[in-house]
Amino acid sequence: MPDYMFLLESRLLPEQRAALLRVQELSAALGYNVYLTGGTVRDLITGASLRDLDFTVEGNPSKIARELEKGGAKVLHEDEKFRHVEILFAGDCEGSIAAARDDHYIRPGTKPELRWSTIMEDLRRRDFSLNAIAISLNPASRGLLLDPTNGLSDVERAEVRALTIHSFTNQPVRLLRVLRFAARMGFKLEQRTQEWFDLAIERDLQHTITEEDAGAELHSLAREENPAAILKLWEEHDLLETVHALLAKKHPDYDAINRLSKVRDDLFMSGLRPRLATPMMLAILGRLKDNEVKSVLHKLGFRAAEVETITEFDEETTAAAKELSGKKMAAPIDAYRFLEKLPADQIAYLLAFSSNSGAVSKIRAYLNKWRPLRQGIPAISNELAAIGMPAGPKFDAIVQQVFAMQLTGRGKTPEEREKILRKLSGIKEQPKPKEPKGKEKKGSKPAATKASLAAAGKVALPAKSVAPAKPHKKAPPPKAPAKKKKK
Ligand code: ATP
Ligand code: MG
Repeated sequence: MPDYMFLLESRLLPEQRAALLRVQELSAALGYNVYLTGGTVRDLITGASLRDLDFTVEGNPSKIARELEKGGAKVLHEDEKFRHVEILFAGDCEGSIAAARDDHYIRPGTKPELRWSTIMEDLRRRDFSLNAIAISLNPASRGLLLDPTNGLSDVERAEVRALTIHSFTNQPVRLLRVLRFAARMGFKLEQRTQEWFDLAIERDLQHTITEEDAGAELHSLAREENPAAILKLWEEHDLLETVHALLAKKHPDYDAINRLSKVRDDLFMSGLRPRLATPMMLAILGRLKDNEVKSVLHKLGFRAAEVETITEFDEETTAAAKELSGKKMAAPIDAYRFLEKLPADQIAYLLAFSSNSGAVSKIRAYLNKWRPLRQGIPAISNELAAIGMPAGPKFDAIVQQVFAMQLTGRGKTPEEREKILRKLSGIKEQPKPKEPKGKEKKGSKPAATKASLAAAGKVALPAKSVAPAKPHKKAPPPKAPAKKKKK
């Protein structure tokens, strides 16, 4: 059996690992069994990126949530009836904690009776086998894979398999879900699942999907990496009208969706991982008028705060672009600081759709030049220390000043930077004692270079001393002028 714990730990981001350890710890303290479930395990097994952490506990998750809140986590939504908590763990890591439960159907298609259960029953009541796998996080069985419906083999066959003949009857929203997972993962429907699907469509079950369930699917869709593929599949099966008639009539704005997806790929390359749910929702509904967007979202059960976030996003982002391209942001360092604070989804939205060329070019400079330069800040600190500047507020201010100069293209070489650092710190080069004429070696290295080499760890300098061991004559100034004229 593969070591799932090892696989898990090697794939978690540091903040996800911290969240996992904390949930594990709190569950153990409360005497609850806890498991990783749902999308997290599926994504782990299939090699997809782990977007969020879904936990299932044999107990009450709200007690865990209360403790997590004390440590800085934010509860985004709590459903007391289903004992399901959506949470933003400390470090901006998304996840959920749910109580293990069984949905008991007296007759297919009726409202299920809810029973708190063990993890095994919980897994069996889920929608598809690939979503019904768990990893134990309990001390005695940590890393053990629980796969009562044989989901692993379906993943290997690249198939989405529903767990019972009543799957779509019991929850018609699974008609949307099955296509969402198939499109997302490039899987096909398992043969019997396909038959059940066709039968459900024949019986018109899609028209019994509740607005709330359809809304939850639209919500999940906007978080998908490739919503266009899913929407096309829904349209092919005439399912889009079950989400909303107006969306089906006007069609999703595929061009906008694709532009945003492309920007996401570009931002990944620059080291940003934006959560695009809000701008993606606007892109999906891009052919609808503003008031139509609002009414669609309300009708589909989006919470008032969510509707507001989505409907005000464009105005908010346009205002940010205006500020960014304004006079106050003329200095690159000011634009840099502004962009550092601007949410990544706004950056993505502007790159994809903004006609404010001034703002867009600053964003491009930020991503392609300024952010990479930021990685050089530790080197500037080392260089400043090497010329003898003691740590303190002045030290930090100088480092920031040099960084700001670098954003304008200055201070590219170590020599150039040393000149700047000496000027800003007021630390002059040590005067060199006169040596007898003729003894000076031609081409001896200037002290500046040695200090820089020391900063780079290439030359060892005596402890607490920054002057070269053997003082020598002041070196000629470096060839490159400190200030380059702009072309
Ligand atoms: P995503 O990556 O989109 O978050 P996910 O599988 O985690 O995918 P969620 O909608 O977050 O999807 O649901 C979490 C889990 O809850 C699913 O993996 C599935 O096991 C279960 N689940 C969700 N909706 C249903 C449903 N309608 N019927 C049965 N099980 C469901
Ligand atoms: Mg999930």
